[in-house]
Amino acid sequence: MSIPAAISEQLSRLVLPGRAVIDGALVGAASGGTFDNVGPRDGAVLNTVAACDVADVDRAVAAARAAFEDGRWRDLHPRQKKKVLFRLAELMERDAEELALLESLDVGKPIRDARAVDIPLAINTTRWYAEALDKVYGEVGASPADRLSFATHEPLGVIGAIVPWNFPLHMAMWKVAPALAMGNSVVLKPAEQSPLTALKLGQLALEAGLPAGVLNVVPGFGAIAGQALARSMDVDMIAFTGSGPTGRRLMEYAAQSNLKRVSLELGGKSPQIVFADCPDLDAAAQAAAWGVFYNQGEVCTAASRLLVEASIKDEFLEKVVAVARTIQVGDPMDPETGFGAMVSERQMQTALSYIDKAREEGGAPVLGGSQVRIETGGFYVEPTIFDGVKPSHRLAKEEVFGPVLGVMTFTGEDEAFALANDTVYGLAAGLWTSDINRGLKGARKLKAGLVWVNGWDACDITMPFGGFKQSGFGRDRSLHALHKYADLKSVSVTLR
Ligand code: NAD
Repeated sequence: MSIPAAISEQLSRLVLPGRAVIDGALVGAASGGTFDNVGPRDGAVLNTVAACDVADVDRAVAAARAAFEDGRWRDLHPRQKKKVLFRLAELMERDAEELALLESLDVGKPIRDARAVDIPLAINTTRWYAEALDKVYGEVGASPADRLSFATHEPLGVIGAIVPWNFPLHMAMWKVAPALAMGNSVVLKPAEQSPLTALKLGQLALEAGLPAGVLNVVPGFGAIAGQALARSMDVDMIAFTGSGPTGRRLMEYAAQSNLKRVSLELGGKSPQIVFADCPDLDAAAQAAAWGVFYNQGEVCTAASRLLVEASIKDEFLEKVVAVARTIQVGDPMDPETGFGAMVSERQMQTALSYIDKAREEGGAPVLGGSQVRIETGGFYVEPTIFDGVKPSHRLAKEEVFGPVLGVMTFTGEDEAFALANDTVYGLAAGLWTSDINRGLKGARKLKAGLVWVNGWDACDITMPFGGFKQSGFGRDRSLHALHKYADLKSVSVTLR
């Protein structure tokens, strides 16, 4: 595959990290085990990475515990903590281009997006929590005259962060930054598909002056390293983003071990509703297409169900298809590419199997439907749209986590909201209307943690992120995420 000379030159100098970061040192797995890290762009092995197992995770947890108990990070003056996190953000910025290349190589997302979205957002998240960490106040209770009662936010201790591969660094920072800001120690377990930026983050944190043991990074498989972390008797909380089945397992592991806290962000089957009085059909069509095709559809908030008022369905679908046709599947390393490879052969096969099933169940294919760029050896599926999807179809019920849009129609508000809520998930939902009452009614009626009116994904670090129903519980982003990594302690002093 030919790529611009400037990128080739950068790639030739790129060092791919492969060692775990435990107790301030870059180490291999104690067993000597490694795994092949496959690049989805062409299916070739990028590098070999330490395959951490129970022994390595235990070592990382022990280091995190020791760091927490002796207060080397927790007890630093907030000003000092802030300085270290700001320095980390600066170093991420210094190495932003390298981080973007690592991310794009590792998961197949367009380098354009890694540069413009993933890495800048991860840096912004780091700065935001650095800025916030000395603005967390406790409270004083309504004490009688002879007593002073107050509540403080105490760090939990050791946080196990288990993160996915769709926005590897960005999702890691949604957890690592607030957990560190509250004074915790962290053991980060990146997804086996995407270890590179997490390992680089561990190195940058040491360079930034984060004391040894405060942030450990253990690459490895979910069923081994992830399970060891979640079953550890010395981890106080697991903060997770990923699939529903893994989320359920994490709750079992917590119940079977030390009743550690668990927070879960588990994706969804998010509806985007377009009413006939939509104020801007062209903008809605852009949002309908990019809402599901961005990042190859590998987005937990993907707008994978498009609900259109029957009277405008044909006109609107034509516009959506026109936008989707402009999305060219290409080499992720080409800065012109807006739609790259899926993360793995398995994820590609999952998307293709949903496409087959949609055909079998009677969905009407409107666009795409195939694997493409097969000659590259990479994992590419083109943007795909099915019309005529019924509530009983798998495409209406199950998360594909790939570039497949299901279109359904409705008549009137009640049917729209009922259809939208007809899912076990509740992460995000959106509606397009010129009627302010309908917009606000929708915001109330839609059972989702995030609701967007006349836009899609229009929010940032300042707003909480997380789901209702089987999309999970607990919130990333915003000041609420800080409280997730702390316990409330009530102290009463009797005045004598
Ligand atoms: P997954 O849930 O298996 O993986 C997510 C993380 O959990 C990874 O770090 C993985 O190593 C870890 N993990 C897996 N099994 C574990 C276990 N038993 N104990 C502890 N940790 C474990 O997800 P996947 O298999 O990579 O993807 C499957 C589906 O998950 C996707 O098709 C998609 O539907 C969903 N997904 C959702 C998100 C999201 O943002 N909500 C992200 C990635 C995947």
